[in-house]
Parts: sequence; C-alpha cells; structure tokens
Amino acid sequence: MKSEALYDVVIVGGALSGISCAETLRTEGFDGSILIICGENHLPYNRPPLSKQVLLGKWEANQTAIFSAEKFGELSLNILLGKPATALDMYRKCVWVGQEQYFYRKLVIATGVAPRKLQLAEGLEHTFSLRTIEDVTSISEKIATSSSVAVIGAGVLGCEIASACVQLGREVLIVEKSSAPQIPNSGGFIAAKIFDALHERNVNMQYDVEVDYLTDRGQALTLKLSNGNVFNADMLVVAVGSKPNTEWLEGSGLDLSDGVICSDRGEAAPDIFAIGDVANWADEKGVNGRRRENQTSAIEQGIAVGRYLVTGEVPKQTRSFFWSEILGNKILMIGTLHPDRDRLRMLQGNLEDDKFIIATEVDGRFSGILSWNMLKEFREARKLMGVEKNG
Ligand SMILES: Cc1cc2nc3c(=O)[nH]c(=O)nc-3n(C[C@H](O)[C@H](O)[C@H](O)COP(=O)(O)OP(=O)(O)OC[C@H]3O[C@@H](n4cnc5c(N)ncnc54)[C@H](O)[C@@H]3O)c2cc1C
Repeated sequence: MKSEALYDVVIVGGALSGISCAETLRTEGFDGSILIICGENHLPYNRPPLSKQVLLGKWEANQTAIFSAEKFGELSLNILLGKPATALDMYRKCVWVGQEQYFYRKLVIATGVAPRKLQLAEGLEHTFSLRTIEDVTSISEKIATSSSVAVIGAGVLGCEIASACVQLGREVLIVEKSSAPQIPNSGGFIAAKIFDALHERNVNMQYDVEVDYLTDRGQALTLKLSNGNVFNADMLVVAVGSKPNTEWLEGSGLDLSDGVICSDRGEAAPDIFAIGDVANWADEKGVNGRRRENQTSAIEQGIAVGRYLVTGEVPKQTRSFFWSEILGNKILMIGTLHPDRDRLRMLQGNLEDDKFIIATEVDGRFSGILSWNMLKEFREARKLMGVEKNG
C-alpha cells in the first residue's frame, strides 16, 4: 500500500464493524478509494464462534472468515494487514502506521476492544485470554494436555469458556467477585439459570471472592482465594472484561473517556467516525452514551456510518441485541430488562422450565425481551418491540 497517499475513506480496524462499513459504502454506490488498516495478520473474521464452535473443535479457525480474499478485490478495498495504526493527526488528516502516514478525507475508527488484564496473572505460564484466532489456538492446544481449567470471571465470555471446557470433559473452576454470573442488561434473570446449568455439570463455582494469590510454580497453577480456599488447575483463562483499543488515539484531541465518544450518528469530530465495540454513541438527544459490545451493534453501526457517508441518511436508534449459548442453552435478548422500573411479564413458559420468554413492559412499551431456548418464538416476540430482524 502506498504510504503518503490520500484515500477518500480510511478505516482503522479490519474486523466486523469496519468491514460492514466498507461493504456498505460500496453497496450504496461509493466509488472513491478505501483503505482498511488491520492490526491483525488475518483477513477479517467473526469472533463469536471462537468461544463456541472453534473452542469445541467443531470448526476450523478459517471457518470464521467474514468474506473471501476475492471479495476484497471485487469491492475494490485496499487492505493493510498486520500493521496497527500508531497515531492520529486530525489536523493534517493522517493516520500514522509506524513511520508511514496515510491521509484521509473521512476516517472511520473501528479498533474494537482488548481483554482487560489481571495484574496478578501477568507473565504467568499456562495463562490465557480469548479475543483472537491466535488466542483460541493456544487455549485449544493447552486444553488438549490439561485435565483441569480455572476461569476467572463469570461474565458471558467466562461462562462460554467454562461451558466449552466442561463439554470437552475437563474439570472446571470459576472464580467470580460478584454473587452470580454477570449477563449485561438481563436484570439478573438468567444468572440463576446459568448457575444451575453449570452446577449440574459439576463446575466448581466460587462466587463473592477474589483471587488473592496466583502462582505458576511447577506444572500447575495455584489460586488462593479471598475466602481462604486454595485450588490447583493445569491452566487458567482470564475473562474479566475488556477495554477499548484507543491507545493509538491518545493525544489526538478526541474524547476517549470511555471508548471514542460520538454523536448519535457515530461522529467523533468533523470527518471522523467511530463504530463497533470501541465506539460510544449517544442517543438521539445527544446523551446516555454507551458502548455496545455485541456483534449486531457492530454490524448496524458499520452499515449506519457507511450509509450516512454516502447518502447523509441519519441512522435510526436501534435496540441492542445479544445472544449466547451456554451448555447448549440458547439465550437471546433484545433491549434491556428493567425489573426495577418496569412491569415483569412472563410471555411464555416459566422460569423453572427449560424454555421461557420473559419481558419488562410499561403501558404496552417493552424495554427488553429475553428468551431461554425459544428461538422460533423469540422471532415473533421481538415484534412487540417493533423489531422484525436480528436473531
Ligand atoms: C470470544 C468472543 C465471543 C463473542 N461472542 C459473542 C456473541 O455470542 N454474541 C455477540 O453479540 N457478540 C459476541 N462477541 C462480541 C463481538 O465479537 C464483538 O462485538 C465484535 O467483534 C465487535 O467488532 P468490532 O469490529 O467493533 O471490533 P473487534 O472485533 O474487536 O475488531 C477490532 C479490530 O481492530 C484491530 N485493531 C485494534 N487496534 C488497532 C490499531 N491501532 N490499528 C489497526 N487495527 C487495530 C484489532 O486487532 C481487531 O482486529 C464475542 C467476542 C469474543 C471475543
């Protein structure tokens, strides 16, 4: 790729949100030059299967590809692989990649998030986090020679990893500082269901505790918890959340107080947009900004900014949509459940069943709908929120 060149659009971050934006630019008829700067060495791929099909050994890593190398040619996309952007000069409108600089007319920031680190685990042997193809490859290699796995963090990712390890026949320990599995926006409803599912499969769950001491002496790791319990495990996966990839933007002048702060159309500064996990979009009133770390929002924001750049069409506010699969249980959720504020309605089944759909509602307006193992029925139920697609 020619350094010093000017591109009509530069997209930094070549994963789902960036690729959705690039593809939309083309489908909306944009024929200017597009450069995608990718920090990773792989062509863009989907991450959700990494903690599910790939970790379980059902898929090869290359089955996660978003689209083929030929498609990049067809869409006339220039792509720079394995070269992370290192700085942004928004006054000269250029992105630095080491010593090289790439000029833009419009810039789209799509650099996602990275696993949050746990100080105690830094530099230890047999210790992993999961975000990339390299991560899942290393974890799978280690699982093959391990009989026990410790997971720190019982968020969605930690529970999915634990679930895969159990299904692979490993002994699993989960350590979580809160009192239950942490599923964002669910109002706490499925925490108990997930807890029961893991408990039934003999996962050792240590809640309301922190790790006080961690060592990798010998072949195994030893974890000493704040409740005094001590456990050994052959390997450890740390899944304690994520942090936005904004280091390269430090000093640029952008507001990076929680990801890249944007308007309701993803604009962070004149001619600069942000999308996906790294982006913090405001609502239509310009307030209540938040980052949405899920696949559907990454796609929707990529499409919205691509379309806005070509047509000027202001994106509609969308509901966040989330799915997961834990020990075979399919979880789907749209919006946010607000049991504290809104009326709780069981739409189908009940909490004790293996299948149910629950919602929160006020005066016929639904704030969130959650389905546990009712995929087909959820497609109907989400219409109550005026949503026809997703899931
Ligand atoms: C294991 C796993 C399972 C998941 N499962 C689900 C699920 O079941 N359902 C769901 O809705 N969501 C799930 N997610 C979340 C979903 O994958 C993300 O929401 C989605 O990947 C966000 O896409 P993105 O393009 O915004 O960012 P990312 O996918 O994080 O991609 C950002 C890209 O930018 C690159 N980058 C970073 N810094 C730079 C730089 N300076 N220069 C150039 N490139 C850079 C990164 O290397 C990366 O390739 C999961 C995530 C993980 C990790």
